[in-house]
Amino acid sequence: MTSTSNNDEMKLSFDPTRAKSLVSAFQSVSEKVTKAAAGRNVRLVAVSKLKPASDILALHREAKVEHFGENYAQELMEKAEILPREIKWHFIGGLQSNKCKPLSSQIPNLHLVSSIDTPKKATQLSLGRSLLSPPAPSPLLIHIQINTSGEDSKSGVSPGPDATALCKHVLSECPNLKLVGLMTIGAIARSKEGGENEDFKVLREERDRLEKELDVKLELSMGMSNDFEEAVRQGSGEVRIGSTIFGERPPKEEFRVKGEVER
Ligand SMILES: *Cc1c(COP(=O)(O)O)cnc(C)c1O
Repeated sequence: MTSTSNNDEMKLSFDPTRAKSLVSAFQSVSEKVTKAAAGRNVRLVAVSKLKPASDILALHREAKVEHFGENYAQELMEKAEILPREIKWHFIGGLQSNKCKPLSSQIPNLHLVSSIDTPKKATQLSLGRSLLSPPAPSPLLIHIQINTSGEDSKSGVSPGPDATALCKHVLSECPNLKLVGLMTIGAIARSKEGGENEDFKVLREERDRLEKELDVKLELSMGMSNDFEEAVRQGSGEVRIGSTIFGERPPKEEFRVKGEVER
């Protein structure tokens, strides 16, 4: 066992047939992203929430996929514990303040948190990161989540003064965090209309405003399974793709981290 392996990692295995279909789905999405990106670099995050650890291991081993996105703190902590340390974990889901410190203090390879929408969450994440032992070699990357559609049901900070204040907080009060971009989920209706998506436009304009006002560079994280090509055309630097790679997700209550392989 190498020093980068975790204790339980060796017990995990994956089905070669399943691995083949995952790799093929990933590559097909990846080609579409590259085509839409027209020469730009766009990160493809494989959203593995509610999918077994064996699926993640298969993509990591067979297609060298590094970036995986998760939505639930407990699920991510369990997966990170048993999967290779080379994986760069992205937390993209709704985050409770009390889960921030455990997440960043217990997962050394937590790479980027995309769903920061309050100063308190940022402070807690930064604090947790400072508790890692050995110390993390680099700060934890952060996206501020923006509510671009104005729907009450969507999380994220409103564009304007609140977003500015939150960015400033991360930049000046959180020594173990590095602000690198803005994230939006967007309204499904606005993605299905075809043509330019209003949420993506709002996020881009907010990015332009904040870059100028705060003198920083910010990337855009927008685009999921049903709208990622349009998102990339509209300037996204990161897409988060789940069901197109992994298939439909099971209901949360039926999910087991180590499911499916044993069955
Ligand atoms: C689940 C999720 C995704 C992936 O969604 P798909 O439609 O399955 O591609 C992307 N971003 C966030 C924030 C998510 O919660």
